[in-house]
Amino acid sequence: MSQQDSEGTETVSIHHWYDPDSKPLSITDGDDATVWDEDGNEYLDFCSQLYCTNLGHSNEAVITAMEEQAGKIPYVSSAKRSPTRDRLAEKLARVTPESLSHTFFSVSGSEANETAVQIAREYQDAPTVLTRWRSYHGGTYGAGALTGDPETRATIERHAATSGAAKFLPPIPKAFDTSDPEELARRAGEHLEFVIRNEGPDSVAAILTEPIAGTSGAFPAPPGYFDRVRDLCDEYDILLVADEVITGFGRCGDWFGVQTEDIQPDMLTFAKGVTSAYAPLAGVSVTPEIASFVQTNGFDIGQTFGGHPMACAAGCAAVDEYANGVIDGVTDLEEGLASRIQQVASKHDVVHDVRGRGGLWAVEFADPETETSFHDPRVDDGENPVAAVLHECRDQGVLLGSGRPGFQIIISPPLIATQPEIDRAMDVLDDSITAIFG
Ligand code: PMP
Repeated sequence: MSQQDSEGTETVSIHHWYDPDSKPLSITDGDDATVWDEDGNEYLDFCSQLYCTNLGHSNEAVITAMEEQAGKIPYVSSAKRSPTRDRLAEKLARVTPESLSHTFFSVSGSEANETAVQIAREYQDAPTVLTRWRSYHGGTYGAGALTGDPETRATIERHAATSGAAKFLPPIPKAFDTSDPEELARRAGEHLEFVIRNEGPDSVAAILTEPIAGTSGAFPAPPGYFDRVRDLCDEYDILLVADEVITGFGRCGDWFGVQTEDIQPDMLTFAKGVTSAYAPLAGVSVTPEIASFVQTNGFDIGQTFGGHPMACAAGCAAVDEYANGVIDGVTDLEEGLASRIQQVASKHDVVHDVRGRGGLWAVEFADPETETSFHDPRVDDGENPVAAVLHECRDQGVLLGSGRPGFQIIISPPLIATQPEIDRAMDVLDDSITAIFG
């Protein structure tokens, strides 16, 4: 049976996050921060597709590296060695936090997180992993169980009995009834310690967390929070795993979000930006101790396309591009983006909050009188005016991301976006909020 795309054309390809009411674009071409649909309409891609095309859509160095690898040998078994894979692992060892040295490659962020959990459980000989409510760690059975976003988990749990992932609250003002950063860090730290003790510290193998909550709303943690998390991990002998699938490779200013927090994780998972999405690649980087444990005991798990050489070739070129000015440029990008978002926000009393870091920002909407969020799916299944703002932006030629819960918009342009592009995208956001909310 076939389906219809936005233009009413028959298609047998079922796109992901399928929503029968959505009318997804059919995108055919791209150049830097711009994409075109099959009718030739032009859009500024200010969601980097799925927060991943950090270098834009036409990076010559990455394309050439992939062509060269395809000409030599496109694929080498993931159970054998490939010099291209080795080269990328060496490059990553230079840019990841000092605590990490070795990398196990996989294909998607979901798999990288599942691998991190498999390693943590073996290494710690303990069953439980703590993750945060409203987090996103992937959509497969295992990674879906780690995910704290209620909508995603509900879908996963309809299909599989999942266990071993207990949740704790993220350090966000709503969860702890304070917006004072110091107090928030303190209360959220105390809560995490309570959860660890309640689960039984010996049963907790790892805490897996995004340094900045990504799709759930670009929340940076209050200062001091991650120091407390690291201390708790040390005190209770728990591994700290940073999920940097979105935040890695300059998205939030530094190479990795944990570097901004100045903490050393025991493992770090990455995907998306490692190749700037030119090819699917993900992985988990680990400490020398964990690498030696895995290499001594063996690790009888793998994926055919884990560390695919063409993807690793793309990764090598992308990492060089990031090192050659792209990551340094995120400071300017952040300055330009943050000030324009704030400027738009100040004109609309329906904008309740703006937050983010580097090239990842969220604009949250709420009723200005009651401060109630628009369209919180837990209490409200009516029309979502924030989705209407997104559609209006799209109609005016700007693609932005939808957060979960859906009362927020996520802005994450390619890191090479220019100030005139930022200005144009923010003018469109401004006009679109006016068009929907008046
Ligand atoms: N972790 C985080 C923080 C993510 O945002 C995502 C995807 N959006 C994933 C893991 C899962 O990655 P993938 O879709 O490549 O499986």
